[in-house]
Amino acid sequence: MMSQHPDRAALKERDALFPPATLGVIGSGQLGRMFIHAAQRMGYRAGVLSATEETPAAQVAHWMVIGPPDHLPALRAFAERAEAVTVEFENVSAPALRWLARRRRVRPGWRTLWISQNRLREKRFLARHNVPHAPWHSVRNEAELDDAVRGLGMPLILKTAASGYDGKGQILVETADQASGAWASLGRSPCVAEGWVDFAAELSVVVARGVDGGAVCYPVALNRHERHILDTTLMPAPVGPIVAREARGLALTVAQALETVGVLTVEFFLTADGQLMVNEIAPRPHNSGHLTIEAAIASQFEQQVRALCGLALGPTDLVMPAAMVNLLGDLWALAGGEPRWDDALAVDPGVMLHLYGKRTPATGRKMGHLTVLDPDPEAALYRALAARQALVAGHRISQFLVISS
Ligand code: AMP
Repeated sequence: MMSQHPDRAALKERDALFPPATLGVIGSGQLGRMFIHAAQRMGYRAGVLSATEETPAAQVAHWMVIGPPDHLPALRAFAERAEAVTVEFENVSAPALRWLARRRRVRPGWRTLWISQNRLREKRFLARHNVPHAPWHSVRNEAELDDAVRGLGMPLILKTAASGYDGKGQILVETADQASGAWASLGRSPCVAEGWVDFAAELSVVVARGVDGGAVCYPVALNRHERHILDTTLMPAPVGPIVAREARGLALTVAQALETVGVLTVEFFLTADGQLMVNEIAPRPHNSGHLTIEAAIASQFEQQVRALCGLALGPTDLVMPAAMVNLLGDLWALAGGEPRWDDALAVDPGVMLHLYGKRTPATGRKMGHLTVLDPDPEAALYRALAARQALVAGHRISQFLVISS
């Protein structure tokens, strides 16, 4: 387990909150649901601030407050019930979090969210801390757009500074004369222009950092995306020890520089010559860490609970290598209805099924995932892919990942 030693003086400030204390999560998707599962297993009472009642997290919560996350009456009702608050997505407004933080313990704090919810602030933060990242320019007017085109060359990617995820708010610019039209299609909102990175692989590292400054991280994950959405994860990534050490070291550096308390994920590009570049920071558990529920001694969600409550962080060691494949709403369309759960589980009883309780299987919507543990991580991935294929019988699912050894 890779870790950094806690600041002993700060240990005094430890403020453990024990079960059956009441915890609250802002945001109500699958990440909130899995946080609540972990909290409940440890004996906490867990509630959610949710937009509606029928959400993945609200379905399993002990209690809920219905309302938008920056609506004062909803926040007030939420603060009355939750003794400690965490978030499941980064786009919670910083003023709302600051308001809450004056009344309740909120982890991660508003500064972590403030930086990670805006790509311009995130890039400046990475540059300030000498963390390698893709070349970029800010684009807030036509002159800056021209500078970006000249400075970065082609192709480049324009990404809106605020509220982008899963490839939304991004556009590939292949020739200089497309740049102005591409920016217009993003509403001329403040953007980051990023140089194209010809990466060999995408990696991520999930870190947990406690209130005493001690931090631990999981082994490196290898991720593959389809249509900008995470499709498969394999842990530990089949990368050499130098790359693994550097990726984990950089992820810990980011967590320490942000002084975040909670779980944080750093996504990387790895180039063919072994260079790592940070692509994105997510100040929360991450889709690529879902397999830690079965594969690690303490899952990323348990770490979120422990950090929030000021408990000692758990071990991040894997009990076995593992792979995860996402189940998107597209599968329901391919299967012509409910996927064949019985076939997938009968093919391989070692396949762990997670469904998030979402009623409407839209294209690209994350409905659940499958996890498989296997001493050989590549075998875990093939088994998970085979089980997913069995869900839709004869219908072929896009391409399969082939890992060169
Ligand atoms: P993001 O939302 O920034 O994580 O981007 C989503 C996906 O788009 C990434 O996981 C990459 O597959 C791809 N991508 C984003 N930025 C770049 C880049 N600068 N060069 C190449 N591919 C990129």
